[in-house]
Amino acid sequence: MKIHEYQGKEIFRRYGMSVPRGIPAFSVDEAVAAAKSLGGPVWVVKAQIHAGGRGKGGGVKVAKSLDDVKARASEILGMQLVTHQTGPAGQKVRRLLIEEGADIRKELYVGMVVDRASQRVVLMASSEGGMDIEEVAAKTPEKIERVTIDPKTGLTDADADDVARKIGVPEGGIGQARTILQGLYRAFDETDASLAEINPLVITGDGKVIALDAKLNFDDNALFRHPDIVEMRDLDEEDPNEIAASKFDLSYISLDGNIGCLVNGAGLAMATMDVIKLYGGEPANFLDVGGGATAEKVTEAFKIMLRNPHLKAILVNIFGGIMKCDTIAEGVIAASKAVGLKVPLVVRMKGTNEELGRKILADSGLPIISANDMAQAAEKVVAAAKGASK
Ligand code: GDP
Ligand code: MN
Repeated sequence: MKIHEYQGKEIFRRYGMSVPRGIPAFSVDEAVAAAKSLGGPVWVVKAQIHAGGRGKGGGVKVAKSLDDVKARASEILGMQLVTHQTGPAGQKVRRLLIEEGADIRKELYVGMVVDRASQRVVLMASSEGGMDIEEVAAKTPEKIERVTIDPKTGLTDADADDVARKIGVPEGGIGQARTILQGLYRAFDETDASLAEINPLVITGDGKVIALDAKLNFDDNALFRHPDIVEMRDLDEEDPNEIAASKFDLSYISLDGNIGCLVNGAGLAMATMDVIKLYGGEPANFLDVGGGATAEKVTEAFKIMLRNPHLKAILVNIFGGIMKCDTIAEGVIAASKAVGLKVPLVVRMKGTNEELGRKILADSGLPIISANDMAQAAEKVVAAAKGASK
């Protein structure tokens, strides 16, 4: 789960990390009122969306008067903000953060992720803040410092100070940087984060160290331990299809292609997408209906896939283990009838009661294309999608 920058900064404050004073705003009037109560002379109007790169996309603007705040807020609120992380359609801005302006002398980068190889949290830090860290990693990897954190000790004073010096925090700011780095580690650890990032961490003209941006992602599997974080969820920022799917316990991820996939088991779903690509097709989604898919669940899954206007064909790929193929066949037929299926449907079933399942599909009178193995299924669905798009 992701949260907004202003919510991330609220969490940072709880850990004693210094962030600019700021107030979220949901309307232009609220933005002006927020600026008034913060006091001048400089404010920053920041679009709040669940994507980075807002600065470059025109979603972060400095304002030097209340009129200016009003103008910038009117401009940004409601805009369709396009960044390298939103995709070409962009994301509609519904919330703003109004902050006191910072006098930036230097922009640094710090972030934390779980490193699978060492099974520990790794702190990454760089003197090259304010820009795309992936680009820094690709072009000048030597400019990224790494510290593997021992969960027994947490981030030690010595490691925090050492990394702060390496990325260019001046001597007078080392203590503040330590508070921020250790706070970031504790926040990461205690909230079950999967990513915590400050880009940029700034050194101001008067030598203060401040977290100017805040990005926190959380491990969904641990959210049950954090009701306060669940409350920060903003459904406007999430894919409506993914929200609908989660209500029915379906794991669904929207993708860019035109072949819908309905599969049981995450591994089989991944393999199915690979085989579709191998045969020259593009999956429209990842969808794992899980082990205990009922006819109702399969119907919901079909409905969600069919909302995609680019959908040209559907591939159902089921391994009948606990779930029997005849049950799935009944589900597929019920779902096809319920949604008035118009796109070609290829079904491949293997396992328990597969003969019976195939017979049920054949006898249904529906134009279902049957396939015996995955390669054949992929070939048929790719051809069907191409035929449909002519
Ligand atoms: P992002 O582009 O989505 O990562 O948004 P950021 O919060 O990182 O802001 C982008 C850039 O805007 C920063 O790297 C800064 O250069 C600039 N910026 C943000 N806040 C301030 C501020 O208070 N004063 C000034 N002068 N620039 C700011
Ligand atoms: Mn940033």
